[in-house]
Amino acid sequence: MTTLTEPATGRPWQEVPATALDSIDEVFERAAAAQKQWAALPATMRSELLFGLADRLGQLTEELAEIEARNTGKSIRETRQEAARMPAAVRYWAGWADKVTGTTVPFHPDFHTYTTREPWGVVVGIVPWNVPYIFAVRRIVPAIALGNAVILKPAEETPLTALRLAEACREAGIPDGLVQVVTGGADVGAALVEHPGADIILFTGFHETGKAIARAAANNLTPTLQELGGKSPQIIFPDADLDQALDAVVAGVFGATGQMCIAGSRLLLHDDVPDSFLEELASRVNQLVVGDPRDESTDVGPQVTARQRDKTLAMIEAATSEGARIAAQAQLPADPELADGFFTQPTVFTDVTPEMSIATQEVFGPVLSVMRFSDETEAIRLANDTEFGLAAGVWTSDVGRMHRMARSIKAGLIWGNTYRIINDMIPTAGYGQSGYGAEGGMESIASLTRSKSVCLALEPGLPSYIPRLPKANQS
Ligand code: NAD
Repeated sequence: MTTLTEPATGRPWQEVPATALDSIDEVFERAAAAQKQWAALPATMRSELLFGLADRLGQLTEELAEIEARNTGKSIRETRQEAARMPAAVRYWAGWADKVTGTTVPFHPDFHTYTTREPWGVVVGIVPWNVPYIFAVRRIVPAIALGNAVILKPAEETPLTALRLAEACREAGIPDGLVQVVTGGADVGAALVEHPGADIILFTGFHETGKAIARAAANNLTPTLQELGGKSPQIIFPDADLDQALDAVVAGVFGATGQMCIAGSRLLLHDDVPDSFLEELASRVNQLVVGDPRDESTDVGPQVTARQRDKTLAMIEAATSEGARIAAQAQLPADPELADGFFTQPTVFTDVTPEMSIATQEVFGPVLSVMRFSDETEAIRLANDTEFGLAAGVWTSDVGRMHRMARSIKAGLIWGNTYRIINDMIPTAGYGQSGYGAEGGMESIASLTRSKSVCLALEPGLPSYIPRLPKANQS
């Protein structure tokens, strides 16, 4: 059993059974059996079932948003908006289910050569606690749309929306065993990764965990896709629309309590951006309402776990002792009911230098570091001065500069004059410690299926360029 704790109050909330390690073989057997039948269905039937799932999730939006807010501590405004987007995401993948085709290859007129794309088989998804419902949808739906079965392990602390999603799949008529959610912590995750029945592993989480998973998966040569952390910059030139940029800076790092892989946690400001920008930023952050995630007026909820809150507090302390200056900090909630919740004060640091821990390490909490630059070259150097490379925001009205920056920044997703746009149609992939393997749009078709080539001779026999070996003597 895992006892779930409500992040807003720090109190135990409910118990969730953990999947027994000795049942993992059976989970894989069920998945493999269901996948064979699923892949043999007409593709249009798979597509229709997924359209039905989208409708069902539409009916469950409010329920899922409330579970997510209570389980993760993220504000209900945020989780409602996340849940409302999922039916459209499911419909996008439902549309793909009957549109994946192969090619013919003009290798030689005496041969009919073609390619097909086959599902991998059993996909293992392992996801973290920050966006549990969206990750569950993104792991399950594209994979089954393309003919796979999925075994999903949500984070131990936040399994509820993934479990509800698996139930919704059953309600929508998706066959038993095709989507299985297993619960528990790293031991259950490790058992999935080491299992020979795993055909591919899709991991989202901390980069060191990703490396451990890639090492363990290597024993069976199981391929992995890795969506890891980030230290993404928002880069602001003086010719940008500074009001819009300010909105995006605040939403880009304080949304979801800063617990976003794509958090814009480094603000790079050109020297000519007026001081009023920073003053306005500080005033906005000082006024953020930190409180109960289920209260509509809350801007920033607690962190998901006490451990993550403590990690953020330690990083704030380290930044201060390394010489960074706190330029803004929101208040903790005054409500005594929330006294034991896992709250962190949203914080802005100035006087940050590139070698400080706050400028280099992922916080995964509501903390922004501000640095200044004098020209494009310095902006690019600072932007790339990190081992991560997940995303970046560039703010300028100069089109040429926008493209030069986009070309030079080592990150998988660049936003120009906007931020935080994530959509199933838009591929994402990390650089460096942010991971590897692209997903989204056509990239998911490539990564969630494997290629097979078939070469058929129109007349039986070998081509002329393959030397014939002598036949055995018949004496
Ligand atoms: P984590 O790596 O500790 O845990 C993620 C998942 O892995 C959990 O389900 C956990 O139980 C499981 N796990 C842990 N050890 C395992 C092992 N040895 N074998 C198999 N499974 C194991 O990550 P976290 O702290 O929960 O999440 C935060 C991290 O996730 C941050 O670094 C964040 O940037 C990253 N993240 C990345 C993306 C992205 O799309 N790139 C999105 C969200 C979060």
